[in-house]
Amino acid sequence: MILRPYGIVIDGVLELGLELIIEDGAIQEIRPHTGLPELFVVSPAFVNAHSHLEYRGLQGVIQEPDYPGWIREITRLKQAQTAEQVRGDCHLAAKENRVTGIGAIYEHSDRPFAGEAMNAAGLEGCIAQEVITFFEHETPQDKIRLVEANATKNREGLRGGPKSPSTPAPDHLTTRACPVFLNPHAYQTVDRDTLRWLGKLGTPLSIHAAETPFENQLTRSGRGPIADFYKANNIPLPATGKSVIVSLDHLGLVRKDTQLVHCCSLEGGDLQLISQRGASVAHCPRSNSHLKCPPARVRRMLDVGITVGLGLDSAASSGPIDMFAEMRAALDTSALIGEPLTSEEVWGMATVCGAETLNQAGADLGSWRIKQGSSVPLIKIRLQAALSTEDLILEGSPDRVEWL
Ligand SMILES: [Zn+2]
Repeated sequence: MILRPYGIVIDGVLELGLELIIEDGAIQEIRPHTGLPELFVVSPAFVNAHSHLEYRGLQGVIQEPDYPGWIREITRLKQAQTAEQVRGDCHLAAKENRVTGIGAIYEHSDRPFAGEAMNAAGLEGCIAQEVITFFEHETPQDKIRLVEANATKNREGLRGGPKSPSTPAPDHLTTRACPVFLNPHAYQTVDRDTLRWLGKLGTPLSIHAAETPFENQLTRSGRGPIADFYKANNIPLPATGKSVIVSLDHLGLVRKDTQLVHCCSLEGGDLQLISQRGASVAHCPRSNSHLKCPPARVRRMLDVGITVGLGLDSAASSGPIDMFAEMRAALDTSALIGEPLTSEEVWGMATVCGAETLNQAGADLGSWRIKQGSSVPLIKIRLQAALSTEDLILEGSPDRVEWL
């Protein structure tokens, strides 16, 4: 098959005048046009580096203006949801990811439905089954048993075959690895013994970290709103005198297969530590801005060689599933703080680099690049006159995306 778009996004750069020869789902050749091109652009599918499918039903519901109020409210609303609601929300969000051009997600799941939803929608990726041990059960062991049971259901769901004949899972979903593993939600929501145990387990990790300065306040000095909350509930959470990133590292939780989510409030030395360990970062600019978290310094992360993927987080904090809006937010935030990212870097974060953060967790997505021999899933973007990646980001929208 000859695919003759007017432009192809290769490693984030919109290259004009090229066509693709595709055989058996793999790119055989990339060559100059041999005929009149059609009015669309081809790109690797998007990768959503941080997702919470199960909060789709809370889109637009939480009105709290900042992080502490928001997190209290989502905890309260979660408890009122029925299993069937949550299952429906997972399926809806997975479908929305898929139809808007997302081929793989790094899912954080507290419940047992993400696997079947990903399978039904044809999404690849991995599932971090969230461990939260404070407040939720009599003992951490009780909670771990429940999390393991939910992880098993998600694992079975991923392998269960397509649930809906209208959205059949692609063949490669059954052959590529879609790992499901236990994972600490955050430093401050899991007791120390369980954190240490998870550090020793050796399975991949994706941890909400340094989303707000309050986490560093807690670990440095035992002060601030998070510390006050635990004190009021008689839960001892002693200060370490270090940043939250260093505190996680001391528990064996910052490694090559760790993805740190948010990293808005890094302190001196944190960047070098993350880079040395080879951990990756999921950047969620729309969620960060909605929850009034400090802007993540992504330029500095890229400059020290950290792999950064772009995450749509939950619809409850980021709004509708829309990778174009997320890319615009990444560009705007970086420009606003005077540390601009290029459009090409941001497109890379939404595709190739996102895939790398999943691969570090064992997702086996391959290089996710358009190159000879690659079987990366491809999308068409129907924008008629884009001349650069910046045009694609500024003028693109989910309704212009089609799957090849
Ligand atoms: Zn999250």
